Amino acid sequence: MSMCKNCETYGVMEEDKVIMPCTNCARDAGFMWNGSRCFGSQGDGEVTSREYAEIYFYMVSQREGMTHEKCIELIPEESRVYYLKLILMETANL
Ligand SMILES: [Zn+2]
Repeated sequence: MSMCKNCETYGVMEEDKVIMPCTNCARDAGFMWNGSRCFGSQGDGEVTSREYAEIYFYMVSQREGMTHEKCIELIPEESRVYYLKLILMETANL
């Protein structure tokens, strides 16, 4: 099995075992890792559900142009309420 470069860089490794994956691998695993709920790491410990929403809102949606609908589909359920708040805040600022 080849090691994910993001996990090597941003995750938490113990020898060749991934203790905490990157956010992409956490997502691909359905936000479960070693039997626990896991949102993945971006290099500074596990991201919170709120940070996860912010990453998708500010990075993936605003920078990469992914639609809010698609982002909401991809983020963990715990992040969706906060993501919707970000949309409301954005709308209120227009
Ligand atoms: Zn990874």
